[in-house]
Amino acid sequence: MLSYWEQKNFLNYDLVVVGSGFTGLSTAIHFKKSNPKSSVLILERGVFPTGASTKNAGFACFGSLTEILDDFWSMSHEEVVQLVEKRYSGLQQIRKQFGDKSLRYQHRNGYEILDEENLKALDQLKEINRMLKKIFKDDVFSVVKRPGKFGFSDQVKGVVKNRFEGELDPAAYLEALWQKASKLGIRILTGVSVVEIDHEEGRVLAENRDKNADFEFKAGKIAVCTNAFTKKIWPESPLEPGRGLILLSKPLGFDLAWKGAFHMDKGYVYFREIDGRLLLGGARNKDFEKERTTEFSVNPSIREHLDRLAKEVIFPFREFEWEMEWTGIMAFGPKKSPIIEPIGRKSAAAVRLGGMGVAIGWQVGKELAGLLSEM
Ligand SMILES: Cc1cc2nc3c(=O)[nH]c(=O)nc-3n(C[C@H](O)[C@H](O)[C@H](O)COP(=O)(O)OP(=O)(O)OC[C@H]3O[C@@H](n4cnc5c(N)ncnc54)[C@H](O)[C@@H]3O)c2cc1C
Repeated sequence: MLSYWEQKNFLNYDLVVVGSGFTGLSTAIHFKKSNPKSSVLILERGVFPTGASTKNAGFACFGSLTEILDDFWSMSHEEVVQLVEKRYSGLQQIRKQFGDKSLRYQHRNGYEILDEENLKALDQLKEINRMLKKIFKDDVFSVVKRPGKFGFSDQVKGVVKNRFEGELDPAAYLEALWQKASKLGIRILTGVSVVEIDHEEGRVLAENRDKNADFEFKAGKIAVCTNAFTKKIWPESPLEPGRGLILLSKPLGFDLAWKGAFHMDKGYVYFREIDGRLLLGGARNKDFEKERTTEFSVNPSIREHLDRLAKEVIFPFREFEWEMEWTGIMAFGPKKSPIIEPIGRKSAAAVRLGGMGVAIGWQVGKELAGLLSEM
């Protein structure tokens, strides 16, 4: 039961954003910057964002060599180059906007490790460099001369370096977005789950975590930024969830022979060092079917696969233990590009950010804010 004061002051907004991951926060910030007098509310079902933005690996990346080659099966050369450009320019924008210090960005390069089967990718390295030259003005990928120096197992037959990639702390990035939103006077309510949207009339129905209170918000415009969880409020949305698992070791207690953001297996597996620990994740491709879910649980076969890679390939001669594991949920579709489009007269969505939301979330939010401003 709401009071007169609550009804009068808390339920009407020019823009209501659903979801407070990178995309939702970015959308709210860009909208408020171009409409300074507007009232903007973000509704988030979790206490923290509870999807992918604070569950990811923090790679500031745009595609490894084998991932780019794999993309040619489903996209034209032009589309692949555009995608890389969008991701790279997205990374440049957030570094400029928030600064490397607040993002805890470190530029230690990206690498891809190649087994026997993927070694043939090296035959196309020059061609890919040539394609990407118009973006980077220089060669992106180079072959590491002595791959043995990293101490990986002899299953690793080659290592490719990418000198344009880095790493950041995704929660630090989110914190920077929170601070910006707060400075602009954007209101964020957490623990509120949106259950229904009237996309024509601008009504947003929500409930609290205990499901013992309902709220009906009125919005001039609505931004749907719920990524993998969108089907509940936009059932026709062309996307499906894809879960990602991350394992984090205890402090390793030995010096590493490598640093940087490492990729394997067409970008499906990734690892980095953080605070003297190994962070290893991915391998969704080992069980696509079971990973097409919005459940935050752990698939034991994927966990085993990652554990084996860590012990047999990454640190074949070392002892270490795992300390933590968690999952996050991404959204994928037939194309790797995100959906940024109107849903109804009063609402539009920016969803399906795949495995690249660190790079593109800010820019995607800007595009959605632009679209909403024109509606
Ligand atoms: C394991 C893993 C590793 C990854 N690694 C990387 C990486 O290294 N680099 C990279 O660029 N990208 C990576 N990604 C992908 C990246 O994290 C995502 O693309 C990005 O976070 C998507 O941001 P988003 O804001 O669109 O979605 P999300 O972060 O999922 O935000 C959606 C929000 O909507 C909220 N929500 C959903 N439904 C409702 C509702 N009904 N009512 C209210 N709120 C709702 C959710 O709680 C959530 O907070 C990874 C993802 C995972 C899972």
